[in-house]
Amino acid sequence: MTFTYTASDGRRFRVRRQAVIPCVLCAAALLFGSCARQVLPPQTTLVMNTVCTINLFEAGTQELYDTIAQRLTEIDAAFNAHDPASLLSAVNAAAGTAPVRVNGDLLAVIEAALSFARLTGGAFDPSIGPLVRLWNIGSEHPRVPAPHETAAAAQLVNYQNVIVDRAAGTVFLTQKGMSLDLGGIAKGYAADEIVRILKQAQVPSALIDLGGNIYAYGKKAGGAPWKIGIKNPFDTSATPAAALSAVNKTIVTSGVYERYFIEDGVRYHHLIDPHTGYPAQNGTVSVTIAADSSLNADALSTAVFILGAQKGFELLSSAFPDTGAAIITDDRRIYMNQPFLDLLDHVSPEFAREPPQNQAHAR
Ligand code: ADP
Ligand code: MG
Repeated sequence: MTFTYTASDGRRFRVRRQAVIPCVLCAAALLFGSCARQVLPPQTTLVMNTVCTINLFEAGTQELYDTIAQRLTEIDAAFNAHDPASLLSAVNAAAGTAPVRVNGDLLAVIEAALSFARLTGGAFDPSIGPLVRLWNIGSEHPRVPAPHETAAAAQLVNYQNVIVDRAAGTVFLTQKGMSLDLGGIAKGYAADEIVRILKQAQVPSALIDLGGNIYAYGKKAGGAPWKIGIKNPFDTSATPAAALSAVNKTIVTSGVYERYFIEDGVRYHHLIDPHTGYPAQNGTVSVTIAADSSLNADALSTAVFILGAQKGFELLSSAFPDTGAAIITDDRRIYMNQPFLDLLDHVSPEFAREPPQNQAHAR
């Protein structure tokens, strides 16, 4: 039995699916103490610069896991800013020189990233590449750059100088030295692409975890919602700061604990304010977004982090009123909007619960 999977750029793939009837027979066989088909364990791969774990439970055939892994590898190959052979690197290498033809994945994500840049007045900016490279956070050799270096790199960051020609399928960075970095949105796109595969394969339930970018797809076997914990930013090994009940929701967090280094007692993290050229310092330590679209959630978690609590909640209530958000601040308060409260299970007593209106406390 096969199904056709259509990628978002229109290409079609044929994949063999485990027939439903054998699964039913298998359940019947189990009653008699034997079953031909074993449930495969969750599959973990190192891709997109992070650990990706997919759990398809009973629906997990090796073929389906392989289809997903291939798709992740394909997205990574196009989007990886660190790989000189990637399509994204080709766009960056031609900055100030020529437009570059890209594939449907890259075109879709760059266009989406630019719309978030416009919506946030450049707080989220996919042309953040020169600053990401300068700080080099998450690499073996991060460093605090000199102020003249941050100023020079920040000058190159401007989403208005990214020209997309949809008809020609090209992207052009108008200034030499510019570069795109899609680390704030690519994993969300990838999670949505996996969901697209799961829908077409009629998988009933799955848990997708792309380096903390979660998609809780369907319900747990038996019909209960998934329980998703939100890391305690002050101690990621401690009990979660909060927990949600989720059905068909993506839960994405941007936090200061993800990638950072400490120099002279100061923590420099990977969420960079394009306007200052420095890691955003606004009292926020993590932003969790709960939404239907993982691409939106990924971009919004980064964007709201940079914007800070007040402007972040304003953006959400005006442009994404159904999107849940929880912002944890360095004084151990957690600010939650109504769509987030609708999913909330509990908050750890270590944190003071605040409505978004109280964000005046937050800087
Ligand atoms: P992660 O899950 O890797 O922590 P996030 O979604 O939190 O990713 O986004 C952080 C990444 O986004 C950074 O590593 C960098 O690649 C990119 N980035 C950093 N600052 C910005 C910004 N202001 N706008 C867009 N992208 C950014
Ligand atoms: Mg993000």
